[in-house]
Amino acid sequence: MHMTTRPIFIFLILLVFGAPVRAADQPDSHSLAIRAARLFDGRSGKLIQNAVILVDGDRIRDVGSGIPIPEGTRIIDLGASTLLPGFIDSHTHLTGQASEDWLQGTLDSLRRGVPEKAVRSTDYARKTLMAGFTTVRDVGSEEFIDVGLRNAINARAVPGPLMLVAAGSLGSRGGHCDWTGFPYETFGKEPGIAEGIASGADQFRDAVRFLVKYGADVIKVCATGGVLSLSDEVDTPQLIQEEMDALVDEAHRLRKTTAAHAHGAEGAKVAIRAGIDSIEHGSFLDREAFRMMKERGTYLVPTLMASEYTGGGHAPQNYPPEIAEKAHAAAQAHSNAFRLALKMGVKIAFGTDSGVSPHGLNAEEFALMVDRGMDPAQALLSATSVAAELLGLEEDLGTLEAGKRANIIAVPADPVSDIRVTEKVHFVMKDGIVVRNGVSELP
Ligand SMILES: [Zn+2]
Repeated sequence: MHMTTRPIFIFLILLVFGAPVRAADQPDSHSLAIRAARLFDGRSGKLIQNAVILVDGDRIRDVGSGIPIPEGTRIIDLGASTLLPGFIDSHTHLTGQASEDWLQGTLDSLRRGVPEKAVRSTDYARKTLMAGFTTVRDVGSEEFIDVGLRNAINARAVPGPLMLVAAGSLGSRGGHCDWTGFPYETFGKEPGIAEGIASGADQFRDAVRFLVKYGADVIKVCATGGVLSLSDEVDTPQLIQEEMDALVDEAHRLRKTTAAHAHGAEGAKVAIRAGIDSIEHGSFLDREAFRMMKERGTYLVPTLMASEYTGGGHAPQNYPPEIAEKAHAAAQAHSNAFRLALKMGVKIAFGTDSGVSPHGLNAEEFALMVDRGMDPAQALLSATSVAAELLGLEEDLGTLEAGKRANIIAVPADPVSDIRVTEKVHFVMKDGIVVRNGVSELP
């Protein structure tokens, strides 16, 4: 008797007290309304005055100018603000942070172990979310810290943006994705597929499968040299065509998108020909490369901030001469390449390379784009509906429309007349939950 009543009693307690506890875990699962002076829907490119958004649980129920708010609905009134879809950054590195001093940064990265890097990454994720970036595509990490961070955010163990992760990056021996510039005995071992270095079409296929096995949402490849690697040239091509073809084909076969780090035009063309989904940086791309991208619908993710924070006004101290020279050359060429892509009508998705620049300053990219000739509304679209399409998330994200996930942010004024107000996000809702409401929580 005693044995049987006890479980029933516990069951009844759970029945009576369990349900309210679960409901309290999801405080925003009821409906609410957000009001503001105007909104940018992320699709039309126009501002709508007297904005109202109705939210039900984690989804947007309705959006419009002065639409009626049902009786009893909780109202968040954001006054003179502008509402926008949560921003999407298509190029971040949330698991690392460059130092203002290259020598110090290099020492830090060698001395910090994986546990410390993982804990620090949660701070970078929080700063990114508080800056209004509710989604990122994170394209290169180490030791699968990105996979762990993504999973912890999805489980609501830590606050952060929705992450699509690369779980590492792939490249050729001696290229930008390899450790270069050190003698063999420094590491005492040549990197292989598990470290992202492959050779030949079969190995690149296997390397893609390896990353997908361990959690990659997107495959990142280093198609050319890079700025911050010590001994490759910044613009040399790295994979040969059959290697790139195999990599892209295998990724697409497994329903993953692909991104190619590419400064030089020749390496970029190898990736574009293979059907890569986006070219990252594109510093030295020429007319032919952009024409090929336009024809195939390949996106450019410019990351102008990467140039600003390596070869521009915010370059770190103590770069070795070989890095300083590459950073300067790439930064010089980058603005012109961006202008050419813009003029030729290449699809441009917003991306910053944050990690090279400080996390949480992602919105500085908007002003760099506008300074180089992009229309402010077009720049905002690049971080909303255009980036959502690149990430394959356009059904769910990127616009303020009925049925979309309730990822909503607010800035204090009109971002179309002053793009810099995007750097002053003061309200952030992710999946219907208010994670920031006020200026005091600046990252
Ligand atoms: Zn990067």
